[in-house]
This record gives sequence, C-alpha cells and structure tokens, in this order.
Amino acid sequence: MAKIFVTHPIPGAGVDMLRESKHEVAVNRESRFLSRDELLEAVVGCAGLLTQLREAIDAEVFDAAGDQLKVVSNYAVGFNNIDVDEATRREITVCNTPGVLTEATADIAWTLLMGVARRAVEGDHIMRAGDWSGWKPTELLGGDIEGRTLAILGAGRIGTAVARRSIGWNMKLMYTARSPKPDMEALGARHVDLETALREADFVSVHVPLTPDTHHLLNADRLAMMKPTAYLINTARGPVIDESALVVALKTGKLAGAGLDVYEDEPALKQGLTGCDNTLLLPHLGSATIQTRARMSELAARNLLTVLDNQAPPHAVNQIQA
Ligand code: NAP
Repeated sequence: MAKIFVTHPIPGAGVDMLRESKHEVAVNRESRFLSRDELLEAVVGCAGLLTQLREAIDAEVFDAAGDQLKVVSNYAVGFNNIDVDEATRREITVCNTPGVLTEATADIAWTLLMGVARRAVEGDHIMRAGDWSGWKPTELLGGDIEGRTLAILGAGRIGTAVARRSIGWNMKLMYTARSPKPDMEALGARHVDLETALREADFVSVHVPLTPDTHHLLNADRLAMMKPTAYLINTARGPVIDESALVVALKTGKLAGAGLDVYEDEPALKQGLTGCDNTLLLPHLGSATIQTRARMSELAARNLLTVLDNQAPPHAVNQIQA
C-alpha cells in the first residue's frame, strides 16, 4: 500500500478511483490551494501526487516527499509547473492529461476570437449599465472573421482543433511548428515561419507549450510585426507573451485586440491590462467544462494508479528506465 496525496479537490470520479485502489489516499480538504509549507508537509512519505498546474513541483517537493515518490500526475496537459528533468533523474514518472481537453480548449480560443473581434463583452457592459440609447451606425465596430487569415502558433492537438473550426468561416490557414503537420496540411494550412505568420495573419492563436524556447516568444519586436488590425488570442500559457509589451501594443493601436485565457503572473495581471478595452479576459477557462474536467480527473487517476502498479501509464511525459 502506497500513500497518495491529491493537492486540491478535483471534480469527477478521479478521487473515488484512487480511494477504490489498495492505496492510502489523502486529499487537501481546504477550499484553497495549500501554502508552499503546507504542500511540503503534506507530501511527506507519498509515492504518488496528483497535482495542479499552479503548483511548482520541483526538487524541494521531491526531497520533502522522499525517495519512495514514484509518480506525479498533473491535472493538465501542460506540465511547465514540473521540473521534469529533475523528476527523470530521480526516476519519478510525470504524467499529464492530453487529448481529453483539446476540444473544450479549442472552443475557448474561438470564444475569445469571436468575442474580442465583435466586441461582445463591451456590448454586454453597455447593456448592463443601462447605457444603450439604441442602434447607431458607428457603435462598437469590430473586425470581420469570414475569409480572413488565421495563424496557429504551435499546431498540435489544440491548435489543429482550433484550425478545424475555422473551416466554417472560410478562413485562410497558416501554422508554425518545428515539424510539418499532416493534419494541418489536410486542412489546406500553410506551414510558415513565425515572422510570416505574424506579418500576414488577421488572427494569431497561440498553442505552443511553455518551454525555455517559447518563453516570451511574442516579445515587443514580434508583436510589432503584427498588423494593427490583427487580433492575438492566447489559450496556451501566459509567459509565452510578454504581457507588458502586449499592454503597450494594445494601448498604442499596434494591435486591434487580444483575447486571453492565460496570464504571465497568474492570477495577477500586468499593470494596464484591465484598462485596455480591446481585450477579452477570461480566468483560465480552457478546459472548464463539466465533462472535460471529469475526463481529466479519470485520466489523472489512471495515470497515477498504473505507475504505482508498475505498468506504463496512458500518458507519461518522461521515460523512466525499468
Ligand atoms: P501539443 O499537442 O503538444 O501541441 C503543441 C504543439 O506546439 C506541438 O505540435 C509542437 O509541434 C508545437 N511547438 C512546440 N514548440 C514549438 C515552438 N517553439 N514553435 C512552434 N511550435 C512549437 O499540445 P496541446 O495539447 O495542443 O496543448 C498545447 C498547450 O495548451 C499546452 O502545453 C498547455 O500549456 C496549453 N493548454 C491550456 C489550456 C487552458 O486551460 N487554457 C488547456 C489545455 C492546454 P513541434 O514539436 O513539431 O514543434
């Protein structure tokens, strides 16, 4: 019997699956995330951790847990919160939940794309404030979507699902990735370099993972390559965009608008961002549907239990020698 700690309650059947196993399961019962010290105390003696994307899971956590730690199962597809190299050195398997959240996250990218281009939230605010005086020829004019060019930065699972949705809008598609993507080519998308994508697209949607290579991929210089009529959508990870540079670009008319689900210093926003009317800001809702979070829950539990049973998990992000 091994000890498992679930760092924050999760919806769905995952925790029940863990409890039905032969292992001893503890769940953080606070209605908040644990402080660092509380987390370090809670992991002591654990062989399995079910973790959240906002928790830094690193050497300090591995030391606190002890040598018996075998698996960290992240309740997310992104795993930039985990020191995977250090985990691998210690023969700790790191797992994630790809695939089950692809469609929900693609939907949020489109929610942002359409919402920011057509200024839906600004309109909603006018209505709720009782400020609407009736139809006007010039009120809240936005940008067209049909027939425009959509660039997908990072054409993996979610990027491809976002691209697929654009077919109904007859958009021209281009994408960046380090290797060509047959699924994108099948959609008629052009494989281009980053500069071409930024210079030519009317909508740029970000889907790269956060890695040292993609940190501030969109810095001030790159943002300046975008058309002043273009919109930037980010459902990947906040630090892929230099958020302070984005605020400047939005305030100075260098970009038409931005739709963001993720932020550089979550949950804080860079100064000035909320003052930009040409933004649609969501609180990291990419995978936030009842069904998707339930699927993530089951997958995270399955990942964890299979490693504890010395089997290959459905989704590991590192390779541990047997
Ligand atoms: P994925 O299938 O691994 O796709 C990522 C793609 O990015 C890969 O196809 C990869 O292709 C490409 N890529 C990697 N580095 C690149 C670079 N430097 N330049 C250009 N392309 C690069 O992952 P996914 O399932 O689509 O998820 C993508 C990200 O979305 C996750 O890492 C996570 O951070 C984020 N996410 C956010 C939410 C949310 O709630 N907002 C929900 C789910 C996921 P190559 O290897 O060929 O370059």
